[in-house]
Amino acid sequence: MKPTVVVIGGGATGTGTARDLAMRGFDVTLVERGNLTYGTTGRTHGHLHSGGRYAVSDQESAIDCIEENRILQSIAAHCVEETGGLFVQLAGDSDDYFEEKLQGCAECGIPTEVITGVEARRQEPYLTEEVERAIRVPDHAIDPFRLCVANVADAIDHGATVETHAEVVDVLTEDGDVTGIRFERQAPNHRGEGAEGDIETIHADHVVSATGAWAGQLAAMAGVDLEMSLSKGAMVVTNVRQLDTVINRCLPKGEGDTIIPHETTVLLGANDDPVDDPDDYPEEQWEVDMMIDLAAEMVPVVAEARMIRAYWGVRPLYDPNPEASTDTGDVTRDFFLLDHRDRDGIDGFTSVVGGKLTTYRAMAESVADHLCDRFGVDASCRTHEEPLPGSRDPAILDDYMNRFGLRSPVAKRSVQRLGDRAPAVLGNDEPNPVVCECEAVTRAEIRDAVDDAGPDLNAVRLRTRASMGNCQGGFCTHRMGATMYPDHDATTARAAIDELYQERWKGQRHTLWGQQLSQAMLNHLLHATTMNHDADHELREESIDFTVFDSGPGDDTMATNRGRDRGNVTNGGSDRGN
Ligand SMILES: Cc1cc2nc3c(=O)[nH]c(=O)nc-3n(C[C@H](O)[C@H](O)[C@H](O)COP(=O)(O)OP(=O)(O)OC[C@H]3O[C@@H](n4cnc5c(N)ncnc54)[C@H](O)[C@@H]3O)c2cc1C
Repeated sequence: MKPTVVVIGGGATGTGTARDLAMRGFDVTLVERGNLTYGTTGRTHGHLHSGGRYAVSDQESAIDCIEENRILQSIAAHCVEETGGLFVQLAGDSDDYFEEKLQGCAECGIPTEVITGVEARRQEPYLTEEVERAIRVPDHAIDPFRLCVANVADAIDHGATVETHAEVVDVLTEDGDVTGIRFERQAPNHRGEGAEGDIETIHADHVVSATGAWAGQLAAMAGVDLEMSLSKGAMVVTNVRQLDTVINRCLPKGEGDTIIPHETTVLLGANDDPVDDPDDYPEEQWEVDMMIDLAAEMVPVVAEARMIRAYWGVRPLYDPNPEASTDTGDVTRDFFLLDHRDRDGIDGFTSVVGGKLTTYRAMAESVADHLCDRFGVDASCRTHEEPLPGSRDPAILDDYMNRFGLRSPVAKRSVQRLGDRAPAVLGNDEPNPVVCECEAVTRAEIRDAVDDAGPDLNAVRLRTRASMGNCQGGFCTHRMGATMYPDHDATTARAAIDELYQERWKGQRHTLWGQQLSQAMLNHLLHATTMNHDADHELREESIDFTVFDSGPGDDTMATNRGRDRGNVTNGGSDRGN
């Protein structure tokens, strides 16, 4: 009989753990309270670290990062964009620290090359003229959504079961030891099973908590005291891609010191401020302003850019040595496997905490190694060499670019997203119009995602990027809903459109100035009035709080320039990535 394991958490760590355990022959069920990537994984910078960032202050993490960076480029090729990265030294920045960074990188095995300010500006013309020199490192961009979906797809291929929208509300114990979990459905799962409010129980030989910032709450359900060291960070998204290289400021302990090209956008961030509750923390306008101002010191043009949304995430840090840290910036980015039998005398339960998106696979491997030891399973890790679905054949990108009746850049972007799944998704004779112009997503891709994710347009968004561009869903949410017909009825489609539209709105609340304010007003008029959304009886009770627009763009709180008082929004944990 295969040992049964419940993995809680559908972020990078949980999905990677489910994949690894399933590949090694465990009977795995993954349980996630929201969509995949609902937690911190969906709110990151999308930075595939070279380790350069930690090469001076946190060398163990730096070494993990460079090792995993290389592995992910090969096993997750369709999720990684090989942008390269620069640590830039601006006039006045410390020479000593620049040398320490080079030394630290050498000690951690991170390849570097020093280039002049002129060369750096030749590579990235929008860099400030203040740049004196830079260190080239193998930093890259990674798509966390595609990565988690690919891990789950492979876990399912290896026999795992996945329950999304399933919140663990209790950890079952017998004589103090953990024997399973109880979850409450927040919505039917992607197979259409169950209903909101259903309570279900899963008995298991072992429960793994990969719940990131929520690990303390999960542990408490099992009677375990696990104190996390949580810190929030704000990220701001521009509407165009002003650069192609990851830019880091070469300063010790920086905040807002990284700019990352991501698909059609650029992400600015992040600060590092302690929070107590990962579901309840202030999202403050000064954070957005600070991210823009700090990024503009490196790339001045971003100060004038149109910001399409802002979002926040909470780092799931674990501090084994709290006395030594003066703030959350000091806490190691290393990861920890905590077997609660050894740590707390409670059998059947392991938490995996800390780490980075970049090191998720190594975290998963350590959990799977541990459970193999525990259950006497003789199977070694293969996740470092077995490509994820979609990235099995990177050459497919070139081969299939123009084969699907799609012109570049639509073909290019579709094939980049789908990787080696492109022929299966795009290769049929049906008409295939573009549904989301901003992100060049076609109907075939949306249909494929609906087949996979069920009637959940947010899950479709994570798989395709539809609605993540300039218009933030203004022109495509309803078209995405239309592709659900005839597999799903009108009521289901309307509810899915509404949910996606609200999700898009949440991140825009923080960027309502200039052109993005006009866009938000246009979106509101299209949906609320032209499409009769505010009079749709079926959805009226749950519809967006449009009263914020009632006083129109002349209202001072809405139309002020950046930097003036625009009030704060407290809705921690509600926003969803870029
Ligand atoms: C602003 C910011 C930027 C970052 N940028 C980067 C970056 O660029 N590169 C990088 O390498 N790292 C980055 N990180 C760190 C990285 O994002 C995290 O370390 C990583 O994503 C954590 O993944 P995880 O799977 O452990 O946790 P999560 O992604 O948070 O997953 C935990 C999951 O558990 C679920 N869960 C919680 N409670 C329950 C329950 N009761 N029942 C069911 N499910 C539950 C949650 O919904 C969540 O989806 C960043 C972090 C922040 C905050």
